[in-house]
Amino acid sequence: MPDRLGAPLNEPLFERLALIGIGLIGSSLARVARSKGLARTIVAADASGEVRAKTAELAIADKVAETAAAAVAGADLVILCAPVGAMGTIAQEIGPYLAPGAILSDVGSVKASIISAVAPHLPAGVHFVPAHPVAGTEYSGPEAGFATLFLNRWCILTPPDGADPKAVERLSAFWRAAGANVEIMQPAHHDLVLAITSHVPHLIAYNIVGTAADLEEVTRSEVIKFSAGGFRDFTRIAASDPIMWRDIFLNNKEAVLEMLGRFTEDLTALQRMIRRGDGQGLSDLFTRTRAIRRGIIEQGQETAAPDFGRRAGER
Ligand code: NAP
Repeated sequence: MPDRLGAPLNEPLFERLALIGIGLIGSSLARVARSKGLARTIVAADASGEVRAKTAELAIADKVAETAAAAVAGADLVILCAPVGAMGTIAQEIGPYLAPGAILSDVGSVKASIISAVAPHLPAGVHFVPAHPVAGTEYSGPEAGFATLFLNRWCILTPPDGADPKAVERLSAFWRAAGANVEIMQPAHHDLVLAITSHVPHLIAYNIVGTAADLEEVTRSEVIKFSAGGFRDFTRIAASDPIMWRDIFLNNKEAVLEMLGRFTEDLTALQRMIRRGDGQGLSDLFTRTRAIRRGIIEQGQETAAPDFGRRAGER
C-alpha cells in the first residue's frame, strides 16, 4: 500500500477545478490537486469572508473567488465541499453559470438527499457525479486540511442512472490520482452502509459524551481524569463539526433510524446478558467484534499500533 502521493502527473486531468466550501475536505482537495498537478488552475470559493481570506493567505488555490458563481465559470470540474444542507442552495446559485460538458460533483456524507436537492438546478449537458470520500478527521476549516487525507481511503461514487460513463471515469481518475480507491454504489445503498459505519457510531459517541457530561454522581473532572479507560476515544469522534453532523442526521433520517433500531435491539440483548450473568454470550460477541478490528487493520484502514494508533507527537 503506497505511503505517499507520488510524483505530479505529466498532464493535468482538468483545466479548471472549482472548489466550493474550503473546510477540511475542500482545503485537502485543493492541496492534493496542487501537489499532484490534477488541474491547471484551482479556484476556491466559500460563503465565509474569513475562510476566503484564510484560503488566500494559505495560498492553497490559484484564485479565491468572491462568489460560487464566479468560481465555477469556465470550470470543467466543480466539487461542492460545503455541509450537506447547503448543497441545494449552492446548486441553485451556480446552475446558470456551469459550463456545458462540466462535471459537477460533491463530497457530502449523504447521497440520496443531495441528489434530490442538487439535480433539479442543473442545466442539460452538465454531468452530475456525486461522490463521498470516506476520510476525515474531527477538525474543520481551511487550516485543518492536508494533501494526504485521501491516501488509501475509499471514495464512493454514486452516479445517477444514465450518467455519462466518460464523466464517471474522469472523476474516478481524479480521485485515484488523489490517492483514493474508488467504488461505485447506488445512492440509497451508500446511505445505508454509511449509516452503520459512520453516522450511528457518531451518534453513539455524541450520546455517551453527553450522558457523561450530565452525570451528577461522577464529576466532570473525574470523567476527564480517567478518560483513558475508553471514554476519550468517544470524545474524539464527538468533537466533530456540529453543523456537518446536524445536516447528516437530518438528511439520512431513514437509514440512520433503521440502523439505530437494530443497534437498540442488540443493546437490549447485551443488557439481558449482563443481568443474567451470561458470560459466554458476552465473550462470544467480544470475540466476533475483535475479528472485525483485525480485518480493518489488515485492509490498511487503521494501524495496529497500540493505544488506538496514537504515537508520540501525533494529534
Ligand atoms: P468544514 O470544515 O466545516 O467546511 C465547510 C465549509 O463550507 C466552511 O468553510 C463553510 O463556511 C462553507 N460553507 C457553508 N455553507 C456554504 C455555502 N452555502 N457556500 C459556500 N461555502 C459554504 O466541513 P468539512 O469537514 O470540510 O465537510 C464538508 C463536506 O464534506 C460535508 O458535506 C461533509 O458531509 C463532507 N465530508 C466530511 C468529512 C469529515 O470527516 N469532515 C468526511 C467526508 C465528507 P462556514 O464555516 O462559514 O459555514
